[in-house]
Amino acid sequence: MSSERGLLVVLAGPSGAGKTTLARHLEAGGRSFRFSVSTTTRPPRGGEVDGSDYDFVDDAEFTRRVEAGYFLEWAVVHGHRYGTSRAQVEQSLGNGRNIVLDIDVQGAMNVRQRMPGAILVFVMPPDMGALSSRLSGRGTESADLVGARLAAAVEEIRWAGCFDYTLANGSLPETFGAIDDIVSAEAVRSRPSPYTGDPVFEPEALKGGEFWMGRRVVVTAGPTRECMDDVRFLSNRSSGLMGCELARAFMESGARVDLLLGPCCSPPPAGASVSRFESAAELEALAGEHVRGADLLAMCAAVSDFRPVHRIGGKIAREDAAGSIEIEVVPDILAGLGAACPVLAFSLEAGPGAEERARRKMSSKRASAIFLNRADMPGVGMESAANEGALLFPDGSSVQVGRGSKRYVAACIAAALGRRLAGR
Ligand code: 5GP
Repeated sequence: MSSERGLLVVLAGPSGAGKTTLARHLEAGGRSFRFSVSTTTRPPRGGEVDGSDYDFVDDAEFTRRVEAGYFLEWAVVHGHRYGTSRAQVEQSLGNGRNIVLDIDVQGAMNVRQRMPGAILVFVMPPDMGALSSRLSGRGTESADLVGARLAAAVEEIRWAGCFDYTLANGSLPETFGAIDDIVSAEAVRSRPSPYTGDPVFEPEALKGGEFWMGRRVVVTAGPTRECMDDVRFLSNRSSGLMGCELARAFMESGARVDLLLGPCCSPPPAGASVSRFESAAELEALAGEHVRGADLLAMCAAVSDFRPVHRIGGKIAREDAAGSIEIEVVPDILAGLGAACPVLAFSLEAGPGAEERARRKMSSKRASAIFLNRADMPGVGMESAANEGALLFPDGSSVQVGRGSKRYVAACIAAALGRRLAGR
């Protein structure tokens, strides 16, 4: 192992997805993984060993441990309390030993906040049928409890996008191979995960995404470029990542997505139908073609607000430039489009009065919602991996989206807009 500190691997996902089997596989493998034994108030099941499967305690003892700061995280899962021992995790990592946690999604998000180096792996059941038979097949829960765990699984799966890895747990040898590969790669990783800083689990945040199932969404992303001559252009710092993640969020909610992507390096999500543009005029023409019959136009592209009045062929000589480059304001694309479908607009604002300006934009663009993000906060916005902001609606209401990876923020926006358009 090349890292001095051990790796902290968090396996989360619905119960019955096979996390414990994977955790035990790591423990038995050659990478000196320790299994983090959680404390729980759940009564032991037949065959479970106190101190090895769980530390089984009563309510009073659990409360005592909470008050003593014993837990790195703890949560109520299916009506019982479960918690991860802080000392076990810190001792392992400090001694250079790897440790694996088998916990629920809220626990995983909380660990990420407290231990930013944690590697979050979402263990996905192959399908709900298989999950149901695994849960019933254990014979340890009543039909009611199996039903409750299946319902909880649907909620947990929404969070898969906030994890570093998702493993579909179908064939065991393949899944073992995949987790071994993840651990090998993470042991030599030199850059931090792009998803650190995702917020504490917020159970309501991703509800509503199902609204997009079977719908068609047009997402625009990236900057525009306005050429002065054949080599120079006016543009902005947009990386296109927010729009690409938004396209992914709609797709993961079941929508068909047309992604209109400007000149940037952010990778579009697999499965989106991608068309490229360079200037605002090209974007407007593409959007006009694609928006017909769409259920939503999400205008995430950062249009360069200014452009040279004339494009000059060749390369303008330095000595000819002063006074010869005339600049004009780029007309509002939405106004030109007259989209018949709901529009999600974006507003990047700096300084005081940001919400007021964003609300004015929303009404002039006749948008159904506008996402207000800031250009004056360190660590978020253009060229960064994170974002935060507020989704504003025309009736004066808003949904706050806490700081997190752009993938997380995009999923929150798609869900909140879904709730809104579904009338919830
Ligand atoms: P089970 O009762 O089936 O053993 O576990 C129920 C759920 O609680 C599983 O999803 C399991 O991963 C989760 N869990 C187990 N230990 C912990 C813990 O320490 N913290 C949290 N947040 N969840 C846990």
